[in-house]
Amino acid sequence: MIVHKPDVHIWFVTGSQHLYGPDTLEQVTRDSRAIVDGINRAGVVPCPIEWKPTVKSAEEISAVLEAATADRRCGAVIAWMHTFSPAKMWIRGLTVLGKPLLQFHTQFNRDIPWDSIDMAFMNLNQSAHGDREFAHITARLGLNRAIVAGHWQDPETLRRVGVWARAAAAVTEGRTARFVRFGDNMREVAVTEGDKVAAQARFGWSVNAVGVGELVERVARVGASDLDALIDVYKKTYTIDAALLSDAKQLERLKVQARLEIAIRAFLEEGQYRGFTTNFEDLYGLGQLPGLAAQRLMADGYGFGAEGDWKTAALVRAMQVMADGLPGGTSFMEDYTYHLEGGRQLVLGSHMLEICPSIAADTPRIEIHPLGIGGKDDPARLVFNAAPGDAVNASLVEFGDRFRLVVNEVKTVETPHPMPKLPVAQAVWVPYPDFTTGLEAWLWSGGAHHTGYSTQIGTGHLQVYADLLGVEFVRIGRGTSLDEVRMQLAVQELLAVRGHRR
Ligand code: MN
Repeated sequence: MIVHKPDVHIWFVTGSQHLYGPDTLEQVTRDSRAIVDGINRAGVVPCPIEWKPTVKSAEEISAVLEAATADRRCGAVIAWMHTFSPAKMWIRGLTVLGKPLLQFHTQFNRDIPWDSIDMAFMNLNQSAHGDREFAHITARLGLNRAIVAGHWQDPETLRRVGVWARAAAAVTEGRTARFVRFGDNMREVAVTEGDKVAAQARFGWSVNAVGVGELVERVARVGASDLDALIDVYKKTYTIDAALLSDAKQLERLKVQARLEIAIRAFLEEGQYRGFTTNFEDLYGLGQLPGLAAQRLMADGYGFGAEGDWKTAALVRAMQVMADGLPGGTSFMEDYTYHLEGGRQLVLGSHMLEICPSIAADTPRIEIHPLGIGGKDDPARLVFNAAPGDAVNASLVEFGDRFRLVVNEVKTVETPHPMPKLPVAQAVWVPYPDFTTGLEAWLWSGGAHHTGYSTQIGTGHLQVYADLLGVEFVRIGRGTSLDEVRMQLAVQELLAVRGHRR
């Protein structure tokens, strides 16, 4: 489980009106309670769903949606119309709703009772047109929202409600999430720059820099017993060569990373940060670039971005929240180098050090090697191959005050050949729909070289996340053509030129 897992409930709000009389409304209550109980029992939604009394007037609707907005424990809202619920009644409430919305288009009964259906049944079970009236007003108001249609007991429908709930949790956490940058970003790099004010307005992220000197001071204060205890954790958790541990100089290098881990962790906890960035160009007074330290903090659920890449740090944290409890792993990643053999092209993803061990195929090894850049001492790091399987690479880029989330579905494969001299963790993958289209679509989209990589979540989670935030979304994956992506980009550019805002 990730650190500071969001502790929220989802409110389930059922819409109706006074037209039908008390018997029908009592049945609506029973049915909506049964749906809430059914979804909770299915175990696909990672937080409890809370039933709310049926709303039948503009006053009741705005009261419950205003309460949802104000309640810190309310993470998101599901709205469902069992009967017709005239949607002008919803305008006031929906325009103040500050929580992610799912328009759940379901119906209590799965089947039409062919032999017994009469007008009483018809008046009770009106989701087919009640939800259309509701959908019209959410479309008319231009609200950011998600939509799931299907029967509430159907496994695929439930799975999609779970996907929405995970994306919603990440959106809601973002509203109050703090991220710290140790130093600025790598000099002259474009894609790690950005408008932090625009990001805070859109995502809620509060991103601020702290001088690396604050870390230097904390590193110096790390106590011997804390240090020894952490070295013991390393010995128990990872493979470490006996030669490393018996070499006093190497052991001291390992201790430098342990001190960094303790110091950064304490700083993040005290400041209630959900992620951080480092910069190899800004390490004044620190012995090493955080490697092992950054890897282990990421594995605990802190977002991370290298070279001052705060957008990726915040995106990685959002992906960790979406992914919490699912099999697989989630990491900071970089497209590093290619294998361009005809018909067997591959991407090798890695970084200088900072790949999360949650994606490892086997027990990682602690190794110490020179870094080559930054002019600091040799840092300890975890070295491993990533587990094969389907994965996504997601990149959040900015164009002035517009953000675009670019996602590439990839297939991570077994490393085709040992790489005995590669001193870093790595993943080898093939992009979908194919190597060339995947790369060209990414380049046309302006996606970054830094990404959030995950085998835990899929494109669906990220698409809902973008929908709930009103952020441009580009999917490059199975069945995608380059023409489609370029057409989509052209539409997005056109909307931006027209000043379109969601
Ligand atoms: Mn990088």
